[in-house]
Amino acid sequence: MRLSEHEAKEIFRAYGIPVPMGVAFRSPGELEPHLGTFGDHLVLKAQVAVGGRGKAGGIVVTETARAIEQAGILFAKEIRGVPVREILAEECLDIEKEFFLSIAVDRSSRMPLLLFAESGGVEIEAVAREHPEAVRRMTVSPLLTDIPPFALRDLLGGMVKDFAPVVNKLYRVFREKDAVLAEINPLVTTKKGIFAADAKIIVDDSALTRQGMRRGRAQTEREQEAETHGFSYVDLDGEIGVIGNGAGLTMATIDLIALYGGRAANFLDVGGGADRERVKHAVKLVASVPSVQVILVNLLGGITRCDEVARGILEADVRQKVMVRLAGTNEEEGRRFLASRSYTMFETMDEAVKAAVEAIR
Ligand code: GDP
Ligand code: MN
Repeated sequence: MRLSEHEAKEIFRAYGIPVPMGVAFRSPGELEPHLGTFGDHLVLKAQVAVGGRGKAGGIVVTETARAIEQAGILFAKEIRGVPVREILAEECLDIEKEFFLSIAVDRSSRMPLLLFAESGGVEIEAVAREHPEAVRRMTVSPLLTDIPPFALRDLLGGMVKDFAPVVNKLYRVFREKDAVLAEINPLVTTKKGIFAADAKIIVDDSALTRQGMRRGRAQTEREQEAETHGFSYVDLDGEIGVIGNGAGLTMATIDLIALYGGRAANFLDVGGGADRERVKHAVKLVASVPSVQVILVNLLGGITRCDEVARGILEADVRQKVMVRLAGTNEEEGRRFLASRSYTMFETMDEAVKAAVEAIR
């Protein structure tokens, strides 16, 4: 589960990693009483769980006098399709240099992997692609609780004195919070010292109970809505909306889409015994994803009755084209019902997926 930036920064603060003074708020009015604590300028940061916020307009440096107005504008925006529900206002840092520091689980060595680059910030992906040697790497034994500065010399180079303490603090966060990723990008130097200007922590989903954390805080709104209906749902980044029953069938559908050169917009497993209401909610939910151009429904009827499914699809009455493959109990009836309303029906999964991919082209 990915924590929001301000949640991650609260953890950093508790572990002694310097973070800018800031306050999170959900409406411009909530920011008002705090304005006096900032100087002439402040930074507004959309709390959306997407990468590349800065480039997508999610980071706004503004005069404090105009912060309320600017916050209103930011709340009205979507950052890479995600609505802005919360903003973090922070003191403006006078940045001298940006660095990149990250700790992740390295699957091949099965050890924590430290990454460090002298050029951090929003261009780190390009740096890693074009100058991979600029991102220095080092694995750490998970048995080690403290990394002595001399052991960090190759990783940190000339910055070893300044950054060894923050590396150790981040490593403690990583271990004690059961993180699969703990990252500071950028880690910055200023005249007032070093700061974590951004913060990213992904907690291992299997450790949420031990961490006393509940899933749901970092979910997208759609994922939350899906949970209330009892769907297994994940947002992806393609154009084909996917609805299946059973995780296996739904994943196989997504694989087949990829095989034919398409991209799924989501994963939605309606679960067993889906009735008309559930199917209707599922279709509407997927149709509400802005990037969805075509919806592919791939359901196997067992306990699920295909005629019920057909009625649910019809009642959802969405703007997108819906490609339907139904098989199993009452399949003839379901098919006839939808075909009479000019829905596109398919006998096999292969045909349905091909047609959905074609429809995008
Ligand atoms: P990301 O794009 O989601 O990674 O958002 P970041 O929080 O990393 O911010 C992106 C960029 O905005 C940083 O690399 C900085 O260059 C800039 N930025 C963020 N906070 C501040 C700040 O307090 N002062 C200044 N001058 N720039 C900032
Ligand atoms: Mn960042």
